[in-house]
Amino acid sequence: MRIQRRRLDQVDHFVALDAEGHPAGASLDLALLGGRHGYAPRELLQRLDAPDVTLLAPVLPGKIVCVGLNYRHHAEEMGKAIPDAPLLFLKPPSAVIGPGAPIVLPPDSSEVHHEGELAVIIGRSASRISPARVPEHILGYTLLNDVTARDIQRRENKYTRAKGYDTFAPLGPTIVPDLDPAQLVIETRVNGEVRQSSSCGDMIFPVAELISHISHIMTLLPGDVISTGTPSGVGPLRPGDVVEVSIPEIGVLSNPVEAFESGTSRPTSAG
Ligand code: ZN
Repeated sequence: MRIQRRRLDQVDHFVALDAEGHPAGASLDLALLGGRHGYAPRELLQRLDAPDVTLLAPVLPGKIVCVGLNYRHHAEEMGKAIPDAPLLFLKPPSAVIGPGAPIVLPPDSSEVHHEGELAVIIGRSASRISPARVPEHILGYTLLNDVTARDIQRRENKYTRAKGYDTFAPLGPTIVPDLDPAQLVIETRVNGEVRQSSSCGDMIFPVAELISHISHIMTLLPGDVISTGTPSGVGPLRPGDVVEVSIPEIGVLSNPVEAFESGTSRPTSAG
């Protein structure tokens, strides 16, 4: 079941899509989307199909667990050694924005980079699970742009500020189940020009191993996001750019880039 979240008349619906991409079910609660709870009146499904309905980030995660240096060539371009165990950090859920929403460049950085990544959405709570059991706990896959203030990351060493600004976690557009991550190819484009392109099979720590490892540290809950690291080719974003992260089986996560203007605030609730 492919899943999106769409806003209609100020109400945010989780939407199950049929094979043609049209709404087949809708619910206000992700956990109730399946089975008979996901049924919705035909009129609501038709209205959710309208082109002017706002597409949102597909979940509001309780936490976003990110993996650093999970592709050999990216570790090389950063001049860093390949870690013995997955290098983990958290990105705040308040950084999430949906497809089409602007990435706002903060005034205190002059070097903000894109990092296109495959993201895993947890479907069932996971605590201390083996790699073999990981697929049972995955709802599906989507895309995350791990936007990073590179100058601040270099200066402070710790990642919280460099990766935690509002709008620094574009997420979406669709959650797609039952993919084999090793078979996926991820690409990041800026203004149509390819900046990053890699097989997700090149990950140093593959998805099952990563999620098993993380679940031995913290319980993963439904809706949590694991972002699996970025391949080489990270680079700067400037006002007026449009950055796209894509995996053909999932879709395109496209976001414009804007300069910060004082007095404005970010879009609300991951819109
Ligand atoms: Zn990253």
